[in-house]
Order: sequence, then C-alpha cells, then structure tokens
Amino acid sequence: SAKELGRNCWSLYAPRLLEAAASRFKVEQALRRAVERNEFELLYQPEVCFESLETHTVEALLRWRQPDGNVVSPADFFAVAEQTGLIADISDWALRTAIQTAALWHKGPWPKARVAVNISSQQLISSSFVTRLQSLLQQYELPAQCLEIELTENVLQTGANTVAALKRLRELGISIALDDFGTGYSSLTSLERLPLTRVKIDRSLVTTIDTGGRSPAIVRSIIGLCHSLGLQVTAEGVERPTQLGVLLTDRGVQVQGYLVSRPINAATVPVFIAEGRAHLEQLMIAAPPPL
Ligand code: C2E
Ligand code: MG
Ligand code: MG
Ligand code: MG
Repeated sequence: SAKELGRNCWSLYAPRLLEAAASRFKVEQALRRAVERNEFELLYQPEVCFESLETHTVEALLRWRQPDGNVVSPADFFAVAEQTGLIADISDWALRTAIQTAALWHKGPWPKARVAVNISSQQLISSSFVTRLQSLLQQYELPAQCLEIELTENVLQTGANTVAALKRLRELGISIALDDFGTGYSSLTSLERLPLTRVKIDRSLVTTIDTGGRSPAIVRSIIGLCHSLGLQVTAEGVERPTQLGVLLTDRGVQVQGYLVSRPINAATVPVFIAEGRAHLEQLMIAAPPPL
C-alpha cells in the first residue's frame, strides 16, 4: 500500500535526511557564532583598465575565516545563511565594511577609489535598502560615484519594485553592474529593463575565448553590444595571457581575474594601486595577439 511504501521510503531515507539536517544545523550554529564574533572579512579583487594602466574598481568578496583558520567562500555558506535569515546581518556587515574601507582609501592613498559590492536579491527588495545605502555613504563620507553594486539576473524575478529601487540608486550616483552575464536566460531583457552602468561577462564565457570555437565571437559581440548601449564592460575570470590577448583587441574592456590579481586583503590594495602600472604593462607585453 501507499502507506507501506511511505514507511519504506522513510526508513530508507531517514538516516540521510537526518544527517543532512544535523549538518545543516551545525553550519547554522557555526554561522550564528560567526556573526556574533565577527569572523567575516572582505577581500578585494582589482578590475583593471589596460588603456590607462589603472585599477578601475576593486570588487569586495566575502570570506568566513573560521576559528581553526579554515577560510570558507560565500558559495559554501550562502544557502544556509539565506535559509536562516542570517544573510541580512552578514550582507549588511559586508556593505558597511566595503564603504568604510573605500572611504579610507579615498581620503588617503587612492583618491579615485572605487569599490564594487555584491548585493543579494533579499537586500535589494528590502524597503530600507536605498536609505541604508544613502546613510552609509553619508556616515563614512564616501561619494556615491565611488560605489558600484553588483546584481545577478535573478533580481529580475523580483519585479517592478526592484527596478524602481535601482533607478533611485542611479539618481544618487551609484553605479550598477549586472554580474555573471551570459549565464541566465533573460540577458537581453535585462539589458533593456535594468538601469545598468556595467555588464560583467561571466567567467564561463571568457574561459574558452583562447581555445578556438565560437566564444571569442560571442564575447566580442557582447562587448560591442554593451558599448553601443553606453554600458561599461568587465571580463571576469581571466586566467591566461592568451585570453588577455583576445580581450585587448577590443578597446575599453575592464579585466578581472587571477592573471591580473587574486582577491587581496584591504591592506594590500594601496600597494597594488601604487605598483599596478608596471605589472599591467608587463601583462600587456606578455599577452600574445590572437591567432
Ligand atoms: P562573483 O561576484 O561573480 O565573483 C567572482 C568569483 O570568481 C569570486 O569567487 C572570485 O574569487 C572568483 N574569481 C575571480 N577571478 C577568477 C579567476 O580568474 N578564476 C577563477 N577560477 N575564479 C575567479 P568568490 O569570492 O568565491 O565568490 C563567489 C560568489 O559569491 C560571487 O561571485 C558573488 O556572487 C558571491 N559573493 C561574494 N561576496 C559577496 C557578498 O559580500 N555579498 C553577496 N551577496 N554575495 C557575495
Ligand atoms: Mg560579483
Ligand atoms: Mg561576477
Ligand atoms: Mg561570476
């Protein structure tokens, strides 16, 4: 009978379910502690411009440094953070810290400081998000022009209020980047509907631009399309000189990836700003023109 079947299923799957629940509970507890004890930190990954040989922006990337020294990436704890609502505190901490840190650079070693912060759709749909951003910028005296927020295409599903919030951010002078472009299904719709200033081409498209096939044509068309719409473009996940070679055939693309720099800590950013020019020159010389 169905009942028997149900009971069989239960006995078959219960241990695994319990195990998953227990481990989720453990992660949740550890995450709660992490919020209380502030075990989070931000790393910053440069996005550079090869025409000016300057760092255009640094993207803030969250890390959870556990007491045993283990460093965890957001991909590995965001699901639990979202399910438990802890995401709100963690996200707000990241936003405030990035703004505070950029303000210190702006007043000190890097007057043209720009920071990009990844925003979850939960943050964006919160009715207080725009005023929260505004008050953080005021509190730390960071000009809105120094801040970019990054969204993925899933924000589109959150509807018209989101677009209204984004428009208010634009009016404040905050830049808006569409992250991971080319991975979703509604890319062209997004370009039309959202008040964007930048598109970040996902690593999955960039990763094959030096291996032949269609992706160099696709990436170069996206760059052309974005530029003709007045949008800035960043190519993500550039790891090899041969990839850079392809990207350098189009002017005005910002480049991000391990080839230029891994994510670095806040104290290293001014060093990268000071010494980056020579480094970028070297990379440019070493990048072979595409075949
Ligand atoms: P993302 O915003 O697309 O960030 C790029 C990810 O690719 C980062 O992973 C970065 O470390 C990695 N990456 C950069 N260059 C390369 C490369 O050349 N090769 C390879 N293999 N990887 C590269 P990370 O830091 O683990 O972050 C993963 C995702 O988590 C981010 O993707 C972003 O969506 C999200 N995230 C990170 N920090 C935050 C945050 O503070 N708030 C929110 N809401 N999301 C965040
Ligand atoms: Mg991002
Ligand atoms: Mg990205
Ligand atoms: Mg990505």
